[in-house]
Amino acid sequence: FHVPKAVNEPVKGYAPNSPEKAAVQAAYTKMWNSKIDVPLYIGSEEIRTGNTKNMTAPHDHKHAVGTYHLAEKSHVEKAIANALEAKTAWANMAWEQRAAIFLKAAELIAGPYRARINAATMIAQSKNIHQAEIDASCEFIDFLRFNVEFMTQIYNDQPKSNSDMWNRLEYRPLEGFVYAITPFNFTAIAGNLPASAAMMGNVVIWKPSDSQVFSAQIIIEVFKEAGVPDGVINVVFGDALMITDTVLASSDFAGIHFTGSTHVFKDIWAKIGTNIHHYKTYPRIVGETGGKDFIIAHPSSNPRQVATGIVRGAFEYQGQKCSAASRSYVPRSLWPAIKEQLITDTKSMKMGSPEDFGNFINAVIHEGSFDKLAGFIDQAKKDGDAEIIVGGNYDKSVGYFIEPTIIVTTNPHYSTMETELFGPVMTIFVYEDDKWEETLELVDTTSEYALTGAVFSQDRYAIEQATTKLQNAAGNFYINDKPTGAIVGMQPFGGARASGTNDKAGSALNLLRWASPRTIKETF
Ligand code: GLU
Repeated sequence: FHVPKAVNEPVKGYAPNSPEKAAVQAAYTKMWNSKIDVPLYIGSEEIRTGNTKNMTAPHDHKHAVGTYHLAEKSHVEKAIANALEAKTAWANMAWEQRAAIFLKAAELIAGPYRARINAATMIAQSKNIHQAEIDASCEFIDFLRFNVEFMTQIYNDQPKSNSDMWNRLEYRPLEGFVYAITPFNFTAIAGNLPASAAMMGNVVIWKPSDSQVFSAQIIIEVFKEAGVPDGVINVVFGDALMITDTVLASSDFAGIHFTGSTHVFKDIWAKIGTNIHHYKTYPRIVGETGGKDFIIAHPSSNPRQVATGIVRGAFEYQGQKCSAASRSYVPRSLWPAIKEQLITDTKSMKMGSPEDFGNFINAVIHEGSFDKLAGFIDQAKKDGDAEIIVGGNYDKSVGYFIEPTIIVTTNPHYSTMETELFGPVMTIFVYEDDKWEETLELVDTTSEYALTGAVFSQDRYAIEQATTKLQNAAGNFYINDKPTGAIVGMQPFGGARASGTNDKAGSALNLLRWASPRTIKETF
């Protein structure tokens, strides 16, 4: 089997006067003024239930950019029925046809849909153009292209045979349907979770985040235009608990592909356990959840490199990546140089609407997130063991803006060293240079999570110590680089402990979860 060799989509620069910049600006303006109305996509139908919610932009929450329709229980049941109806034809379709559909989807994003999907991600998810480009365009395209390649690697993985005996593995989809729950923070993840299961021949019920409805609509339009048949991917918006309970009540539920919070994932897992006698098959449970991602600098590290790693790792997309650095450990000897650089770099980042391409920092996703972050910042202003060295202001009068904030603490177990905040707040603990090994222990034991982490050092022995000591502390471990920005085909992504099932997104490992192989032995 072979498919076109997957290549990473080149990142466009959006320089002033570039055609790509003009295209995104035009798409942005059109979308901003168009009052988009997003239906449910069930089978061949677009269903407007009439029970709608307004969609506002995080950076301008009084401006309703559109509405979306909420599902009732009966719609979810209808989606399941439609998925099951579409299943046989889809599962039996030659894999090349399925592969071609998703390769075509990748090219649609790369070309005609690029400006629109980037603009939707900027408006509704409050990403700057560069963050939107690497997510909604490049990473999404990469997921589609590379997963097709991984799919063929899987299909090529066949057992030995003899001249009188032919053994083969047939990579069938799961028996039933797959449920995909996707987060607000990555359009690429929103596209990948349903697509990777579908690619392997599964039918899907997809529940996108409420904050991600606009890009979800473009994704489903792209899939349909690329040739995904009706009923293969069904989209329902609305009350997450009701939708999940309805889905999990079906005896045909065969797996979940989830990215979101740890507690929601654990609740779902528990419910699956409760229903286990009711299912036809053991459901596959695949999830990427929270993080409290670290950066540790060794005394041998380059202070400038460390400061850049902290600022970019913590503040790109307002710290709302699961991979974002949110706790750092810096040696006393390097602290003056690192501190100065951190303050200068953080102050240089402009904050405001994503419409202005010069704004590096945009809004946090919603009021709940804003209030939580503001609460922790206020507490740090009062606490004797914490000091805010840069940032600390916030304002929600127009949009949910939180200044990138750095807290320095004398207490390695200070609340913001341990609690996942999911916003532009970094906490730093300065350790004594002769306490490197104790600090590694602290990094390992401070958090229940294990998603990403980074060590900065020029000393190979120290790098080796950190790599070994922190082997369970991060599913993605970076040496002399920030812990965000995994690239499909280069750094398969995922974590363990409370961060997920570590079925690496963007790898054959993940796709294999969506197959239920049959071994066939034929003797001649
Ligand atoms: N893969 C992304 C990164 O490496 C993070 C994904 C997430 O936030 O879930 O930055």
